[in-house]
Amino acid sequence: MTILDPFRLDGRVALVTGGNRGIGRAVAVGLASAGASVAVLSRSAPPEREEQIGNVGSGATAQWIRGDLADFDPGAVVGQVVDSLGRLDILVNNAGIIRRADAVDTTDQDWADVIGVDLDAVFRLCRAAGRVMLAQERGSIINVASMLSFQGGIRVPAYAAAKHGVVGLTKALANEWAGRGVNVNAIAPGYIATDNTAALRADARRDAAIVERIPAGRWGTPEDLAGTAVFLASDAARYVHGAVIPVDGGWLAR
Ligand code: NDP
Repeated sequence: MTILDPFRLDGRVALVTGGNRGIGRAVAVGLASAGASVAVLSRSAPPEREEQIGNVGSGATAQWIRGDLADFDPGAVVGQVVDSLGRLDILVNNAGIIRRADAVDTTDQDWADVIGVDLDAVFRLCRAAGRVMLAQERGSIINVASMLSFQGGIRVPAYAAAKHGVVGLTKALANEWAGRGVNVNAIAPGYIATDNTAALRADARRDAAIVERIPAGRWGTPEDLAGTAVFLASDAARYVHGAVIPVDGGWLAR
């Protein structure tokens, strides 16, 4: 037994929303390489070919659930994972969308779409997974928050509201479930180079302003998030409840 053993996830089953690309992909691969079987929920397919899905533990996706978090049945999704992979130990609520517009130009539809995927779906999946995890008195939920869980951002009012909500929800669930074997925590990524931030990085002035403000002096990569996710999913984090861990190159410290 070494200090690294509690970080292993052998035999655990994880569900990662948006695990097909971006941050979710790096987290899914990280969990799989720590030993977990990983189900991915997304609209578009993960990079594996069909025949590779099921190649558990190699960084490949064990199961792909084609689903749209704007319109889904969370109980059915959790049921699919339990039916095909045998259990559910880890839920990573990673999928998210962003719409950029001045507040006065933000439509009811944009507001509802962002709150729907970034907050409503997070609660509904926590509730469905929580029922399974509370019954087995063991589970880890990791919600993906944002710097805009702490700050208002620029021209992204629904996103900021949703991500503040994710932190409130994380703490509320941690209070209810910490004594019942279920860990609920959040990761707050800083500025990470993914499709989500492609427009910002394409704008040379915004790009330079962002990098200048990051103490680490660079954009984060999706892989920068994987270690924190593995930690929070593992027995090494058994006494960590309701935490929001920034992985931000020092952004919040500035
Ligand atoms: P990307 O835009 O690269 O990927 C978004 C992911 O979410 C995709 O896997 C996408 O799946 C999935 N998704 C979006 N909408 C839906 C939906 N309706 N149903 C199912 N899946 C959906 O995003 P990132 O990797 O950058 O972001 C991941 C998370 O991290 C988000 O919650 C984001 O808010 C958060 N975050 C990102 C930061 C960054 O700088 N990149 C900073 C802070 C937080 P599909 O391919 O099927 O569309």
